[in-house]
Amino acid sequence: MDMKTSGRKLGLKEKYAHMTRGLGWETTYQPMDKVFPYDKMEGIKIHDWEKWEDPFRLTMDAYWKYQSEKERKLYAIIDAFAQNNGHLNVTDARYINALKLFITGVSPLEYMAHRGFAHTGRQLRGVGPRVACQMQAIDEIRHVQTQIHTISNYNKFYNGMHDFRHMHDRVWYLSVPKSFFDDAISAGPFEFMVAIGFSFEYVLTNLLFVPFMSGAAFNGDMGTVTFGFSAQSDEARHMTLGLEVIKFLLEQDPDNLPIVQKWIDKWTWRGVRMLTLVAMMMDYMLPKRVMSWREAWDIYFEQNAGALFKDLARYGITMPKCVETAIKEKDHISHQAWATFYQYGAAAAFHTWMPTPEEMDWLSSKYPDSFDRYYRPRFEYWREQEAAGNRFYNKTLPMLCQTCQIPMLFTEPDDPTKIAYRETTYKGEKYHFCSDHCQHIFEDESEKYMQSWLPVHQIYQGNCFPEGVDPTAPDFDPLAAVLQWYHIQFGADNLSFEGSEDQKNFEQWRGMATQNV
Ligand code: FE
Ligand code: ZN
Repeated sequence: MDMKTSGRKLGLKEKYAHMTRGLGWETTYQPMDKVFPYDKMEGIKIHDWEKWEDPFRLTMDAYWKYQSEKERKLYAIIDAFAQNNGHLNVTDARYINALKLFITGVSPLEYMAHRGFAHTGRQLRGVGPRVACQMQAIDEIRHVQTQIHTISNYNKFYNGMHDFRHMHDRVWYLSVPKSFFDDAISAGPFEFMVAIGFSFEYVLTNLLFVPFMSGAAFNGDMGTVTFGFSAQSDEARHMTLGLEVIKFLLEQDPDNLPIVQKWIDKWTWRGVRMLTLVAMMMDYMLPKRVMSWREAWDIYFEQNAGALFKDLARYGITMPKCVETAIKEKDHISHQAWATFYQYGAAAAFHTWMPTPEEMDWLSSKYPDSFDRYYRPRFEYWREQEAAGNRFYNKTLPMLCQTCQIPMLFTEPDDPTKIAYRETTYKGEKYHFCSDHCQHIFEDESEKYMQSWLPVHQIYQGNCFPEGVDPTAPDFDPLAAVLQWYHIQFGADNLSFEGSEDQKNFEQWRGMATQNV
């Protein structure tokens, strides 16, 4: 059959419309509601999917071209890094522990973002957002791959990175980022988009990705800087998608506003809690600091996000209430988290240490209202004890917050000397929380959060030992058994940085690379 063509070449905009919008159709063999069963279940009302503004305006062929070009550049640099022993150029081997936290805690989230956007895209009956989700899904799998390839160069020489995927699903502190994404991906498609696309990518990404990447640049890790740059241009698209989904939902129906506001409140707090790990990394794990957590929070949250919420006010969106608490906590969380990891350094897959006297002075200057008063005395005491051969490891298990899964280490917003503690009874069982906001989230979705896989509870229930061990044997060592199950190698991956294999090897190899020995 012959078809008349105009013979005219299509412009980018038309071509884009044909390759994206033109692919959608109303199903006839099955009703649309059966083909797309999830996009109405959250109560979100969409009247006109065509009103969706595509944030990327990219066709697939253009997308592949851009991305493959970036890949070629990235892998050329990774090769050069490997061939020139780039790992010996970092400030000192303590820095590598930040990478361990990244590969075990963050990279698996990139993979979950891939799965989440692939799933979500499938569930939306509008073709514009479907294509946007598909591209982000492909970006995210590329991110996890490039991160694994880059960090594999460190894994050849240093401990703690050999089984990051296995650890991510099991290790106590990794349940914090893991549960964040599991929570999002097990929600409906619109909540996922608000949780990850908006709260995570748009509101908080500058507090997660940027500190790790600028930390890498400041500490001489060119491999990580390169994958960071390669992901950066994707990140710009992801942030646009995050903002677009919010505007779209709010413009479609006034009934969407309270639902969206609730999600923003919930996911801002979930994100803020998870960022505790980043705060600690910035203030304690980087030998050369970029800026303090508090400074990053002031710029990227209080200034930037403040402006964003002013913008969203015309849709009726208000700043989440939890922000007040987060502001009160900004002088404290990094110190409280590092103190916890230092005590539990036997059960972590990275090394811990106390800051040097100069580093403590830096902390005093960055935290004039809190460090000297609440944290320095404790840290100096621990330093002295370690120097005297009394390095102490806490072997008891902490109570965890049912929602964010962080040990109960946070203090009352108005009293930094008192641990914050909340509890709720639900169906005859008691649940514990680190804050009003985590309690609130639980009370709103108790049936979901009562199912949380809490590492400490699981250990006590005997679910975290290697198969075949007998917990009733007289010489049974529960910590050793849990570490085996985690695949943490005792004495190599954990304990103090001082005296570790990583410290000794780095010193020796760097000596060989820079001196005639
Ligand atoms: Fe990503
Ligand atoms: Zn919590």
